Amino acid sequence: MNTDIYLDANATSDVLPAAADAALDAMRASFGNPSSSHATGLRAKAMLEATRARARRVLGAGDGRLMFTSGATEGIQTAVLSALCAARARKAAGEPCGDLLLYGATEHKAVPEALAHWNRLLGTGFTLQALPVDGDGRHRLDVLRELAPRAVFVCTMAANNETGVISDLEGIARVLRETGSGALWMVDCVQALGKLPLNLDATRIDYAPFSGHKLHAPKGIGMLYVRTGAPYTPLICGGGQESGQRSGTENMAGIAALGAVLQALEEGGTFRSHAELLGLRERLAQALRETFPGIVFNAPFAHALPTTINFSVPRLSSKDLLDLFDAAGVRVSAGSACSASKAAPSYVLEAMGLPATRSAAAVRLSFGPLVNDAFIEASCERILACGKALRAPQLAPGEDGIGLLQLGFEDSCGWLVFDEASSTCVAIDPPIALVDRVAALVRREGYRMAAVLASDAGAQDACAAWATEFGCLGEDWFAGEQQVVLADGSTAPALSFGSHVLARVPSSDGRHAAYLLGTATGRELHASAVRFAFGPAAVREIRALVGPATVLCAAVLGDAVPCTTFAPAVPEGDMHLDGQALSAFLAAHPDALLLDVREAPEHAAGEPRLWNKGAVNVPLSQLAGRLPYWLRGEPRPLVFFCRSGNRSAKAAQCLRQAGYAQAWHLAGGLALAA
Ligand code: PLP
Repeated sequence: MNTDIYLDANATSDVLPAAADAALDAMRASFGNPSSSHATGLRAKAMLEATRARARRVLGAGDGRLMFTSGATEGIQTAVLSALCAARARKAAGEPCGDLLLYGATEHKAVPEALAHWNRLLGTGFTLQALPVDGDGRHRLDVLRELAPRAVFVCTMAANNETGVISDLEGIARVLRETGSGALWMVDCVQALGKLPLNLDATRIDYAPFSGHKLHAPKGIGMLYVRTGAPYTPLICGGGQESGQRSGTENMAGIAALGAVLQALEEGGTFRSHAELLGLRERLAQALRETFPGIVFNAPFAHALPTTINFSVPRLSSKDLLDLFDAAGVRVSAGSACSASKAAPSYVLEAMGLPATRSAAAVRLSFGPLVNDAFIEASCERILACGKALRAPQLAPGEDGIGLLQLGFEDSCGWLVFDEASSTCVAIDPPIALVDRVAALVRREGYRMAAVLASDAGAQDACAAWATEFGCLGEDWFAGEQQVVLADGSTAPALSFGSHVLARVPSSDGRHAAYLLGTATGRELHASAVRFAFGPAAVREIRALVGPATVLCAAVLGDAVPCTTFAPAVPEGDMHLDGQALSAFLAAHPDALLLDVREAPEHAAGEPRLWNKGAVNVPLSQLAGRLPYWLRGEPRPLVFFCRSGNRSAKAAQCLRQAGYAQAWHLAGGLALAA
């Protein structure tokens, strides 16, 4: 199996071996509580203070406060609470303090969320206002100049976690100075540590939160710098640890580990220099350019951390790319890790004014300064292999040469029906948004679009746009063509499609139409010979025209399965197999067919494991095309698998709802299987 290529360091990073050793030591040999007065405690206290002293030197913290926290989110809360308590006191005393809580539009969500939370909780009643950024992702200093005199608190970040864009902190400080703003200023330094020079005491910055796990320390440890004289209110009270600034017994293992990282930073020789990182970024960028012609980088390299590359590829969504990379063992993320599970476009890229198509397609690739050349070489090779996988054929017809591709976009769903022998295809209800993508696919695979058909009057505009793109016929394809006799004796216009016929059956209200694809005997299309039915009218009105094994292709997307039949469904309770159950299942069912329901490029990019070497690739989006053969053939156990278990669950569910009892799937997917 491929080893992981982890390119998601902005989300979190692996722990430096010296840091892991230091943490282990702090948990075993040097496990003391630094508040204890005995020797074990004193030794722990000495380590704690030595780490703090080192942190001061690395950050240039001067004599400002430097305390250990659980991470940056806590540091941000503490800074916000401190600034708002001070502003509230000034307001109560009738002193001018402004009315705006200004935060960069591309801040990590922890910042605006904390501002809103504490503003509400403390009843301070200030107005939250996002400070816009320009197309390069940098703060609009002209807007800051306008707003700074009204600002109570200004929150900006040193470098952005999604794009790597480095803020112009000197420019911000200059505007604050020139406008005479009395605002307190927080700079989220999470992505800056180890990547940008820091000398906090020489700046106007009042609060600077840091997070250990972004730079090879473990999760759960962070730091907060507070400038001498800046207001401070503890977030956590109790035993008075950290000089009463942050109570709770210290996370000594985390502090020890962070200490080892700080030592590496201070002594040099562990992390790569800025110049070296620039060279490594260029190698990755070159591999990306070769792999994805038309790629666009979403932040200018000149103003970005060399360790972050944010890009979009025309006609590929971030989900497509993430799935492909993950199949190849390359771990990247879409925008920020927190939003990876949602399909929403990145708010950071939206704030930069990027079109939705580009921000919804963005992928972030990030590495840490601990990186070595061999790792970057291996990453480049793996990325290039992804490009090769993308160029592999994607339209896989079933046994009789007919294939179906589900065209899902948001809630709408259409179908591409393709016939290998005649190299023709037909689109039914295709979503307008997919036209470019499908056009590229169809042309690349040598198919000719014969017609674009609508099953619903509302879909006709989209169909007309598709028909124009392909220079083919729309509804009028049927005019004056052959007629077939359907199972109820009625006739319907039909066209030959390879060795099949495609018949159009209008609904009784005339607004909809179902399309039936099957094999005619003479002029007759018997119910049992109808392989597929399409359109919203399909389920309601065509029961008498199709057989129990006719595949009814869905007209809407959502949580529903892609297709079903009129046959009675089979219960789904026992269809989930975990890794262990799978081994036992395969041993007991040597005739089981393993089916990889990931998209073709994912299948091509991945290396098979021992147990799934002979697996057949039937992407979930093309599953409907295969259903008739399983439903009509000799039943045999089918075991579906995919990356995480979601798509395979849907495939097994689909089969069972269609009346096929022997369908299972690998719960948890390849990610959890051996
Ligand atoms: N700020 C930035 C810029 C970040 O990237 C992150 C982590 O994603 C945070 C704050 C929150 O850090 P933590 O995970 O330490 O709470």
